[in-house]
Amino acid sequence: RVEADRPYSVHIGSGVYGLFMDAYRPLLDAADRIVIIADERVAELHLHYLMSFLSNWEIAVFTIPSGENAKSVETFMACHSFLLTEQCSRNSILLAFGGGATGDVVGFVASTFMRGISFVQLPTTILAHDSAVGGKTAINHELGKNMIGTFYQPASVLYDSSLLVTLPLCEVRSGMAEVIKHAFISNKGWLDEILAIKDFKQLTETDLTYHLEKGIAVKAAIVEEDEFEGSVRKYLNFGHTLAHAIEGYLGYGKVTHGEAVVVGMTYALLLSNHHKLDEFIQWSIANSYPFHLLKKLPFEELLPYMKKDKKSSKGVLNFILLEQTGQPFVEEIDEKRARSAYDKLILQIG
Ligand code: NAD
Ligand code: ZN
Repeated sequence: RVEADRPYSVHIGSGVYGLFMDAYRPLLDAADRIVIIADERVAELHLHYLMSFLSNWEIAVFTIPSGENAKSVETFMACHSFLLTEQCSRNSILLAFGGGATGDVVGFVASTFMRGISFVQLPTTILAHDSAVGGKTAINHELGKNMIGTFYQPASVLYDSSLLVTLPLCEVRSGMAEVIKHAFISNKGWLDEILAIKDFKQLTETDLTYHLEKGIAVKAAIVEEDEFEGSVRKYLNFGHTLAHAIEGYLGYGKVTHGEAVVVGMTYALLLSNHHKLDEFIQWSIANSYPFHLLKKLPFEELLPYMKKDKKSSKGVLNFILLEQTGQPFVEEIDEKRARSAYDKLILQIG
């Protein structure tokens, strides 16, 4: 259960959609229209399965482009047009079926349609353990990612782990980066368990459920303490200052978010003098995170992006570092130190 301005529960495991017939039946019974907005790839693979739990109700389905392409003004407007054509009202409910991109755009649609209607997150990626909890919604502007959005909590999150088996390996890699980030900022023992995974292909559904539950608990505890990112929520950005710069410089989609975050965490660990740096690099190489990219990324090109980061202000660089595992803090780093640490990083992994 996540205690936000509107508290909600997160259910994870195989077959949790069964709760629609059970605990969440009153929620659906009370809605005048139920609309699934689904990532088109996810719909192709798993809509049939989801619908098998919803046979009691009349459901309208709208598919949106798969992945990041959905986070556009066009898709946002197309969703609203669909809801209006379907004669949805303030008593309608949306089910967001897909990864973090779907959750972000559908959450934004839910928060703006007739000034806000209920929605349920049905995440289908590993990374979405992060995005489905915390209430941030967004679409992209051509001048910046996630620049248009709201804070808006779902009515509930139903996370069926059996759908993760179809995730491509690069998406597993992307999602596991946020999992290990949650471990770095919270729990040494759990971090060691993840560092022992040398091949993601061997992760079973039970393993994944275990790690996702722990990741969700860390994220939920932080957002409960700081829903609107005034204090501790910043710690979730561990590894993200450089990651956002890499994504911005290369262009979004050239590298997955989690892959960029692993490179960013390596840099933050180096700046922190963290004793797990070498072990983390070994783990990242074993799991094929793209360190080779660094050779194409001159510090001078990344610097302006790092200065634009939401955590930095007036051109000063702010990083989330670790005192030790589980003890994040914010540190201002001058350009000279940032540059020399970056050179060191390239030497170490280049
Ligand atoms: P995604 O939603 O872009 O999906 C990645 C790809 O995986 C897509 O091609 C999709 O079609 C496919 N896919 C999804 N589920 C699948 C499944 N079960 N089987 C096979 N293929 C599947 O990616 P993501 O990594 O889940 O989310 C990234 C987005 O999340 C970014 O836009 C990011 O900004 C956002 N995000 C938001 C928050 C937040 O707090 N709101 C936090 C982190 C990330
Ligand atoms: Zn992230």
